[in-house]
Amino acid sequence: MRAFQLVGWRQPPELREVPAPEPGPGQVLVKVAGAGACHSDLHIMQAPEPLPGFTAPPFTLGHENAGWVERLGPGVTGFEPGDAVIVYGSWGCGICTNCRQGQENYCQNLGGQGPGLGGGHDGGMAEYLLVPAARYLIPLGALDPRQAAPLSDAGLTSYHAVKRSLHLLGPGSTAVVIGAGGLGQMTIQILRALSAATTVVAVDTDAGKLETAKRMGADEALLSGDEAVTCIMDMTRKQGAQLVLDMVGIDPTLRMAAQVARSLGHLTIVGLGGGALPVDFSSPPHECSVASPYWGSLTELMEVITLAQQERINVLVEHFPLHRANEAYQLLHDGRIQGRAVITP
Ligand code: NAD
Ligand code: ZN
Repeated sequence: MRAFQLVGWRQPPELREVPAPEPGPGQVLVKVAGAGACHSDLHIMQAPEPLPGFTAPPFTLGHENAGWVERLGPGVTGFEPGDAVIVYGSWGCGICTNCRQGQENYCQNLGGQGPGLGGGHDGGMAEYLLVPAARYLIPLGALDPRQAAPLSDAGLTSYHAVKRSLHLLGPGSTAVVIGAGGLGQMTIQILRALSAATTVVAVDTDAGKLETAKRMGADEALLSGDEAVTCIMDMTRKQGAQLVLDMVGIDPTLRMAAQVARSLGHLTIVGLGGGALPVDFSSPPHECSVASPYWGSLTELMEVITLAQQERINVLVEHFPLHRANEAYQLLHDGRIQGRAVITP
């Protein structure tokens, strides 16, 4: 089968011919319908050295996958060939405390953060994806897997990041989303679907992304920079926002995040841009909690799928066939994907 693989650190990925996997006991083979191209893959491709927890290349990229059950390995029950499924991607050991609590994204035997598929294991940018256990599959029902694939990361990561701060988002509150790309657009919709926040502010460097953000439920859309800081502080009577989500994570966005967060608020860093948050005694503001959540849990993914089935969130998707995967990543790198690029083998 064809697979889009990272062949070496800091080398461009290649479309290669590899053997199609066979499902062993407990495993499931999924025919891939769509695999989302995430900005994290660009970070992986540009990593100067082997990433902790990752296997050495070659491995197939793609950690945002959905498709149809192709074949069940011996002993697997609960699914039938042809079922439309989304694949939970943060595969843990299953037996450490965090995994047993349903937080496989913080598997202790993978150093508290498992790269999961598309990093430690072959991902979904291929015709077939081998899934180690049926529990990682969630039925999609009537949702189209080509459309739903990004819900497994862009959707799930955003959902987890918002849900942990919902108690701060009462009526009258403000949430700021810095970076309205693949994840940011999901975050805005999830804030709207779950929270009572009165004002959702999107911040981006790209005017097109800001327009999309407004269509997805943002009340205010601001160009990134000092004026955005002034505007948010005015909007919140100089208090700052209860929740600031930085979906970029570079020095300028982290500085902005610290400037617009409020005392007792949450500053949540989702973007892996490699920047540093400036910290001193009063910045971020007093008792503002900083967190850097990674992905989300299986049950949270089930909740995300329910929201999508209820049409309360949806993904703006652009499809690319497998042989155009490199082009999709180039467009993502250049900021020219409006929502999420999904590779369709
Ligand atoms: P994306 O490229 O689709 O979106 C990034 C957005 O940020 C774009 O709209 C871009 O215009 C905007 N942006 C760039 N510089 C900016 C600035 N200075 N100010 C404001 N906006 C700016 O990327 P994505 O796929 O949404 O991923 C976003 C980040 O989240 C990436 O760093 C990715 O690696 C990370 N990520 C983290 C997790 C996690 O578990 N923590 C999971 C998935 C992705
Ligand atoms: Zn991702």
